[in-house]
Amino acid sequence: MDLSFILNELGEERENYFNAVSPPIMQSSNFSFKDVAGLREAMNDEFESSLYSRGQNPTLNILRKKLAALDGAEDALLFSSGISAISIPILSLLKSGDHIIAVDNLYSWTIKLFKDFLPKFGITTTFIDGTVFENFEQAATPQTRLIYLESPNTFCYALQDIKKVTSFAKSRGIITMIDNSYCSPLYQQPISMGVDLVAQSATKYIGGHSDVVAGVLTGSKTLLKKLFEHEFMNTGPALSPHSAWLLLRGLRTLPLRLQRSFESTRIITEWLASHPAVQEVIWPFSPQFQQADLVNQQMQGCGGLFSLVLKNSTFNKIETFCNSLQHILLAVSWGGHESLVVPAIASFKKEDYSTYNGHHQLIRMYIGLEDPHYLIADIKQALEQ
Ligand SMILES: *Cc1c(COP(=O)(O)O)cnc(C)c1O
Repeated sequence: MDLSFILNELGEERENYFNAVSPPIMQSSNFSFKDVAGLREAMNDEFESSLYSRGQNPTLNILRKKLAALDGAEDALLFSSGISAISIPILSLLKSGDHIIAVDNLYSWTIKLFKDFLPKFGITTTFIDGTVFENFEQAATPQTRLIYLESPNTFCYALQDIKKVTSFAKSRGIITMIDNSYCSPLYQQPISMGVDLVAQSATKYIGGHSDVVAGVLTGSKTLLKKLFEHEFMNTGPALSPHSAWLLLRGLRTLPLRLQRSFESTRIITEWLASHPAVQEVIWPFSPQFQQADLVNQQMQGCGGLFSLVLKNSTFNKIETFCNSLQHILLAVSWGGHESLVVPAIASFKKEDYSTYNGHHQLIRMYIGLEDPHYLIADIKQALEQ
């Protein structure tokens, strides 16, 4: 389907709302019916009807169609956060005694889900280095029900060979799921590589303006309908119509924003890589990236998230560098219009810092929509501090 059609037309029924170009926010908790037969029909298939907004809602349905099409998926389900688009399907798919294979360095709350939350229900997880395919084969047991991927992750950007993993999983009857937030559907299409369920934090690129928290899950209609009719309706993670509207607004400019962020990041990472105070820049599209072949094989691009390591990387130096940035904000998250920085040292105390732990030295940066030379000037003066 044409990208311009998806972003500008698909799912929009303008004749139903005065031909308004921007769709209305259907801020209604429930919907009425002409007769009992109509009500019965809706109650019988809530997945396909607007009955009550804990389930579906017309504003959400416009967004749902667009996000499913962007992923090349049969359908999509919207959530009030990215993490609920991850945790609720997992709770739905697995039961006590089941086993998960997950890759290292996942999003922090996904790690907590596997390490702290799921064990309460008798579900265990083996974490592996997903850059080595054989590790998946070795970790698989007869109880393995799910392989969970995040390619690349959002800290050190390790990739998994998605096609290889999904074909192995299919041969064993194992479901595969991926967190595709880093690439967004524009730069990586996991469904076409055989992944069953694709989760994404829509808070990041889809929203794109740092004003909404949301998640999306795409996959087959059968899987999503089953999830919707049970765990989704039971736990109540529905997105609000207003948030859905903000995401629709964000989608209109998604290709432009991603392209800008991608191009600026290329300029900035190249500049950083040649700066004498910088030891290393880690970004999938850097020429020196370790898994460059796999990047070219399965990613069409990427946005503005990368990490850098300073030479002489002491705790104080990292802190001084980050504190000295004048225009790049110290904050978590990413995917918005504004550039951000978050050092790994923000997550622990000074006495726990170890120069032997490569991850401790990482400074994660996100490049937004500002002029790249404006950002370079800011980074330059901070590196000189
Ligand atoms: C932000 C993020 C999430 C969680 O999304 P929320 O919308 O914050 O719940 C999940 N995965 C990745 C990679 C993220 O960056």
